[in-house]
Amino acid sequence: MFKLRDYQQETIDNIYQSMRYGNHRIVVQQPPRTGKTVIMAEIARRATRRGNRIMFLIHRKEVLAQAIATFKAQGVDMDLATMGMVQTLTRRIDNLSTPQVILVDESHHSLAKSYLRILKTFPEAYVLYFTATPVRTGHKQMDLISDDLIPGKSIKWLTEHGFLAPFKYYGLGDIDRSKLRKANGDYTNSSMDEALSHQIYGHIVQQYQRLAKGKQAVVYCHSIESAKEVAAKFKQANISAVELDGETPAKKRDEIVEKFRKQKITILVNVNLFTEGIDLPNVDCVIMARPTSSLALYLQFSMRCLNPRKGKTAIIIDHVDNFLTFGLPNSDRDWNKAIQTRDKRKKKPNTGGPAICQCKYCFGIFYRADMQNNSCPLCGHKLESERKDYKVVNVDLQEIKANEAIKHRKAMVNKILSDQVVANVADKSPGQLNTVAELKAYAELHHYKKGWWYYVAKKKGLIR
Ligand SMILES: [Zn+2]
Repeated sequence: MFKLRDYQQETIDNIYQSMRYGNHRIVVQQPPRTGKTVIMAEIARRATRRGNRIMFLIHRKEVLAQAIATFKAQGVDMDLATMGMVQTLTRRIDNLSTPQVILVDESHHSLAKSYLRILKTFPEAYVLYFTATPVRTGHKQMDLISDDLIPGKSIKWLTEHGFLAPFKYYGLGDIDRSKLRKANGDYTNSSMDEALSHQIYGHIVQQYQRLAKGKQAVVYCHSIESAKEVAAKFKQANISAVELDGETPAKKRDEIVEKFRKQKITILVNVNLFTEGIDLPNVDCVIMARPTSSLALYLQFSMRCLNPRKGKTAIIIDHVDNFLTFGLPNSDRDWNKAIQTRDKRKKKPNTGGPAICQCKYCFGIFYRADMQNNSCPLCGHKLESERKDYKVVNVDLQEIKANEAIKHRKAMVNKILSDQVVANVADKSPGQLNTVAELKAYAELHHYKKGWWYYVAKKKGLIR
């Protein structure tokens, strides 16, 4: 069994407290690399110990085996556990036993139809959505499916307390970002091809040698062709490198990952593989050669190298200036915004994050507040006027659009046609309920406990 860290225990306590208040759908935010599977396993252990059934949903096969191993190690009664990929479980939905608790991993995907189908089938279950980024690309929002959000510790806090390694971040600008075009929540492959400078391939090796020579690194590329080219350039420089992508056979991929773990390979170049879950403990450097407009992907890429080790400082090399969209990985992010709904017309302007500077000597990126005596905190050069300032515009956490969850609630309402107040609250989220009557109706619609409306009404100041 894993010994829980204090912050993991705190998260578990917060989840149970929220459940006691009557919340049924709770978003649990935990940054990447901080052990959220252990938290889920502990909740599953406690549930099955009391004879309750749990269901664990995930959307990637690579991560499932690891999760099952963690649940077993934690002492979950596996006879009471249904664990699987969403796509598989959806097909077997009529034969599944009813769970009391549903744990959804990487739940920024959870507004997809297959998830909603499972959640609809078990409306009485407590649903815990685990994610590092409680926002979903494509403008669908977590508030449409959740009653409460439990934010985890900030990345700064986790670093200060030794749970994540400190890092140095470099921005190298091998990209013309004006050429990037979005579709389905991220940049299109053809626009990434066009935007990337062709010098990038040689530059990646050169900059690795300047900033991270000898360190084990993972490179993120946007296409198989570019990944192969990057791996070839490393080999030309006598640095052991292997390219991996979705077409690499699973067995071969496992062998390569195992070699990397044993430090027999220095550089792993990949396309869309090392995002969620997969454990690579000794990565000390991340090289981003792929721009993204997804905060989830950005954090998964950049934080891949932050597993701590005594004396370690990780190196993040950003060739495509992702920091211009998202700031640094440890920027403070107010996750509560993700479930605070707001009238579109009253939308406040995006205020952005803290000022970020770039050193013209080493290309280091840092908070202006971290500058010491007008010198770069990474290389020590006096900066005076030779620095660039950026005002980072954070991703918009606010935009709200109609989606599947609303349709789902409307369908439920049709069953309760007689009650007008219930019908009025059907397409709303808790943030949009403004009277006690609406809160009560909402609670009825979602089969919530009696005390729920009181807790929320008090939080909103509707009653004293
Ligand atoms: Zn510098």
